[in-house]
Amino acid sequence: MHILITGGAGFIGSHLAEHHLAKGDSVTAVDDLSTGSLEVFSGFDRSRLFFETADILTWQGLESAVAKADRIYHMAAVVGMFRVLKEPIEVTRVNVLGTERLLESVSKRDHLPELVVTSSSSVYGHTASEELIEGIDLVYAPEKGGLTAYALSKLTNEVQAMAYRQIHSLPVSIPRLFNAVGPRQSGNYGFVLPRFIKQALSGLPLTVYGDGTQTRSFCDVRDTVAALDMLVGEPESWGIPVNVGNPREITILDLARMVIERSGSNSSIEFIPFEQGYGSQFWQITQRRPSVELLQRLTPFQHVWTLEKTIDDLITRNRVNVVPDGRLL
Ligand code: UDP
Repeated sequence: MHILITGGAGFIGSHLAEHHLAKGDSVTAVDDLSTGSLEVFSGFDRSRLFFETADILTWQGLESAVAKADRIYHMAAVVGMFRVLKEPIEVTRVNVLGTERLLESVSKRDHLPELVVTSSSSVYGHTASEELIEGIDLVYAPEKGGLTAYALSKLTNEVQAMAYRQIHSLPVSIPRLFNAVGPRQSGNYGFVLPRFIKQALSGLPLTVYGDGTQTRSFCDVRDTVAALDMLVGEPESWGIPVNVGNPREITILDLARMVIERSGSNSSIEFIPFEQGYGSQFWQITQRRPSVELLQRLTPFQHVWTLEKTIDDLITRNRVNVVPDGRLL
């Protein structure tokens, strides 16, 4: 198969590339390198990997790359709390218009490639529920600012993908990704685990935002990409949002404690008010656990990585060497 990955030099994009290269596929990755980096490909066999630097909105090679692809993963997006808060216009421009341009280009093909339009657990907005199930009513509080623009851009991506499925029969899957973590993730845009790992290994205080009682469910990126591969290959999944994540839930304070304990670090924990961590505009969900029932009904997917295993792997990879730009090895 030939695979096209937009945002291919990003964290999840690079793991998709690695996953498909290992299966013997060839990969074209395109990325504007705004948050992605070519360093993610170090150690990759480049003989079946082709890379282009381009903005998804202006990329001249889009039509021909789409024509060659058997499958497309659309990962190009403005992500990360710090970047989302700093660049709100880019969030809509890239996430909504970029997705529209890609969908339109795919819909013109006679032979339609399989397509993954990635959504996010952030679409659940302020929904207060112990378990986030796909069909649940969504609650937003736009006056609280912050992630609302990002959440709505991802919800719009779902609506766009569903529209193209309805009108052009696109074989499109719409995964809602829950907190992927693992090698090559950068802490520079706010993501918590690479920040904690780097802080613990450098003996710096771990910066817990708020009181640390907020929960997240972290999924190793290698499990995430395996699930995406299975999901899009399953026609029954086309056109409907499906949670992709690990239902194990942990408070951010316990995550900090776990990283300190497993790395043997002397670091302390520092509580930082949300407003100080992110600036004035702010909201976030306090609890986030996916139901993965639908994913398991549609695919044979099983998690391989536990959170402990992921953290130990990151500690081993980065004990000697943390990349200066904040990205993990
Ligand atoms: N967080 C934290 N310290 C940090 C960075 C993030 O306590 O240095 C918290 C953040 O406020 C959130 C959780 O960790 O409650 C997960 O943040 P991340 O940005 O990784 O993902 P998201 O908020 O999108 O779930």
